Amino acid sequence: MRIDILTLFPNICNSVMSESVIGRARQSGKVEINCIDIRNYTLDKHRRVDDKPYGGGMGMIMSAQPIYDCFQSLCAEIGKKPHLVYLTPQGKTLTQSRVKELAELDNLALLCGHYEGVDERVIEELEPEEISVGDYVLTGGELPALILADAVSRLLPGVLSADECFEQESHYDSLLEYPQYTHPAEWMGREVPEVLLSGHHANIDKWRREKSLERTFLRRGDMLENAQLTDEDKSILSKLKKE
Ligand code: SAM
Repeated sequence: MRIDILTLFPNICNSVMSESVIGRARQSGKVEINCIDIRNYTLDKHRRVDDKPYGGGMGMIMSAQPIYDCFQSLCAEIGKKPHLVYLTPQGKTLTQSRVKELAELDNLALLCGHYEGVDERVIEELEPEEISVGDYVLTGGELPALILADAVSRLLPGVLSADECFEQESHYDSLLEYPQYTHPAEWMGREVPEVLLSGHHANIDKWRREKSLERTFLRRGDMLENAQLTDEDKSILSKLKKE
């Protein structure tokens, strides 16, 4: 998969995407991530990419022309129009199920706004999918784009090792993950649940499923509506409801 991040701050994006799991995935060619500087496409002789808002008001607005030309240049390079996402607090809130769908694409382009946002006309012209990372406002779309690029990349084949498998993680199946422990077996008087030390895989799986259901029930009951539940799961949940 190829992900292109269109931004005024390519260094922020590049440095984050060069570390750890995603950095290794880029190096081994499991994902291609490019951070493209929108400023390189401005036709302004002073290299400006923003201006004051019509009608007055605070802050600056990113101009339409550099964003449009940057995206057109990307389309020409790839030879097709990649799926474009504009990161905005006005978009639909990102979910793991949307992340899974986006990870099926060959090409994804992420547009980062900055300052007070982007001239509405380029949004109308390019018709991106609009995605928010939550009901709060950040200074720019770079952190949201990095969140999306990270969440998508880690689902790509070979990016996580087998023991870092994402299929039991929170949100994958509309459940939260069970609690996890590592060495030592006792820390500050707190012991690791005995079943995890037993080596009995069936019992461990059963305990983890129960804890996963319990956590989801206690913390995010709303998620259970979309979870695929067995009869045994349902009886665990009905016991929890009675408690
Ligand atoms: N004036 C805009 C508004 O009220 O909707 C907010 C602009 S915000 C300060 C600047 C940029 O940060 C936005 O264009 C967007 O790209 C990004 N941004 C801020 N918060 C975000 C969020 N919760 N999700 C996704 N992008 C966000």
